[in-house]
Amino acid sequence: MNQFAPTKIIGIGRNYAKHARELGNDVPESPIAFLKPPSSVVTSGQVIVRPDFQRVDYEGELAVVIGKRCVRVGGDDALNYVEGYTCANDITVRDLQRKGGPWSVAKGMDTFCPLGPAIVANLNPQNVLLRTTVNGEVRQEANTSEMVFSVAEIISYLSSVMTLEIGDVILTGTPAGVGNLDIGDEVSVTIEGIGTLTNKVVSHG
Ligand code: ZN
Repeated sequence: MNQFAPTKIIGIGRNYAKHARELGNDVPESPIAFLKPPSSVVTSGQVIVRPDFQRVDYEGELAVVIGKRCVRVGGDDALNYVEGYTCANDITVRDLQRKGGPWSVAKGMDTFCPLGPAIVANLNPQNVLLRTTVNGEVRQEANTSEMVFSVAEIISYLSSVMTLEIGDVILTGTPAGVGNLDIGDEVSVTIEGIGTLTNKVVSHG
């Protein structure tokens, strides 16, 4: 069963300094927010459908699930609005994004938002290890303490822009080590205390 029913999914770009630099970008002064449609969600064990582009990248991320309606909340109070945390993979057509195409297209295709395997409440979001593997090989490894903007800062910022509804999901950015997925690959995002989100990559049919 799909336990995720967000009214919106908000991604944060360039929230790990090393990742911002690996793609030739500066570290932002305020969070760079973008939207992924709820139709992009799949859960652990479901497939990622790879469209025919040069680079379709994995981005392992810590995701936040909102538990209480949230409008203009302060940073000190922000974590009280969290239901729990899960693993996310912010799949991105990098060549489309680099060409200046809209992020909503490059990151918004069906199956481009794997989430799971569980929503865990009892977690310090600023001190867990995140690891992404492709076919068992480690590609990304970082501690969430390396985030530029903390989960509390992100919730406070976003809730000053738009109401966060129960079930909404925030993707908190990816660390360095992003790279392409090919058809047949198996990608896993593991976060200490949550578990492992695994998805296989298939062709567009
Ligand atoms: Zn991302």
